[in-house]
Amino acid sequence: MRIDACFDSHVHWAATGEFSQRLRLDGLKSAADIARLTPEAHHYRGEWLLGFGWDDNGWSERPHRRVLDTWMPERPVALSRCDGHSLWLNSEALKRAGLSKSSSDPQGGRLERDHDGELTGVVLDQAAEEVEKHIPAISPFEMRRYLLKAMQIFNEAGFTHIRDMTCDERQWNEAMRLDQSGVLTLAVEEYFWLKLVSDLDAQLELCERARKEQTNNLRVMGLKLFLDGALGSEGAWLSRCYHGSDNKGLILWEKPALTETLRRAWEKGLHVAIHAIGDEAADYVMNIAHELKAAGHEGALDIEHAELVRPETIEKMKGMNVRCHLQPSHWLSDQRWLQQKIGDLTAHAFPWRRLQEQAIPFDFGSDAPIEPASLARTFQALRDSAEAGIPRLLGSPASYMGHSDLSWAPNSFTLLQDEKPKQVVFRGEHIL
Ligand SMILES: [Zn+2]
Repeated sequence: MRIDACFDSHVHWAATGEFSQRLRLDGLKSAADIARLTPEAHHYRGEWLLGFGWDDNGWSERPHRRVLDTWMPERPVALSRCDGHSLWLNSEALKRAGLSKSSSDPQGGRLERDHDGELTGVVLDQAAEEVEKHIPAISPFEMRRYLLKAMQIFNEAGFTHIRDMTCDERQWNEAMRLDQSGVLTLAVEEYFWLKLVSDLDAQLELCERARKEQTNNLRVMGLKLFLDGALGSEGAWLSRCYHGSDNKGLILWEKPALTETLRRAWEKGLHVAIHAIGDEAADYVMNIAHELKAAGHEGALDIEHAELVRPETIEKMKGMNVRCHLQPSHWLSDQRWLQQKIGDLTAHAFPWRRLQEQAIPFDFGSDAPIEPASLARTFQALRDSAEAGIPRLLGSPASYMGHSDLSWAPNSFTLLQDEKPKQVVFRGEHIL
């Protein structure tokens, strides 16, 4: 099988390189299990120990800072959950981030508490973002190293094109430097991460500057923002409560701020990509897009993940400039607990078939480093999910794995054998 301009439509470029260097926690069977891990020097950034990949679904106890305090009492520890939407911190990290029992939850974030009202050390979404500010930033040299490491991961997985969702100024500068020196074997669509509406002016300016500077392999697309959290950590915004709780998830953006962002980015011809995993998040975005359209404002809207979308929301996508970016491989990870967490809403999960039926355009991607960048996993997820009752994709998945603009980085293609890359060609050169 040949795929032209083989495209991963949703990745975190720098993080794919950086997370590959972190202490991996994928195999933990319980919180206490962490005691058997011994960190190495490259797992630290400054004094902070950084890890990635724990998954508490299936653990008998909640992760707690006390477990980390016993294991690593002196240095700050910040461990990202497998969905990248929460951090598990020890007491030293909480202290450095200025968090204590009397701290309150930020808008769009949560500080988890135990029965005594004490912080457990698990912080979600916006609260995790605030902790990140206390972790030393990576240097320009490290940034280039992570971008190159990730490029190698994508190329080896068969991708010649990626769509990167979390660019910032530092990353842009280093990526440009790499492309100017001729080492990039990856065509990259860049979205700049808009964390808060107060950063909108600065981010729009950055997009304009970057657009003037864009190189052969780097394209500026627009802004990306997180509207809700993730399903696994019960932060995705649902129309109903998660099973056994009074929680419908997290909303990171208020309507006026989101409306202003869409309007102003669209005025400049930029895309706005919105992370919307829960069914209510996707519906809220489409309602705002319709209100803007009625007021004469239109532009390109990308819905990221779109893991749960109700039929009436898909109706609202018709006739709009909207494209969905789906990650079938999330099904492989989420199937274990999906029904248990969201019950009947599962009927709206992984809606590729319904999007096809309503002619709403979409692409497939991996969300690397949250899931490994892998074509084989996408194929497998589509097959297995259809057997488990998720409406089956019509036609070949490969139709959703190539970049639509074949004139960009022309003569780039991937040959697959048994769904694995056998040959990868970028701009006419064999890179695998
Ligand atoms: Zn993502």
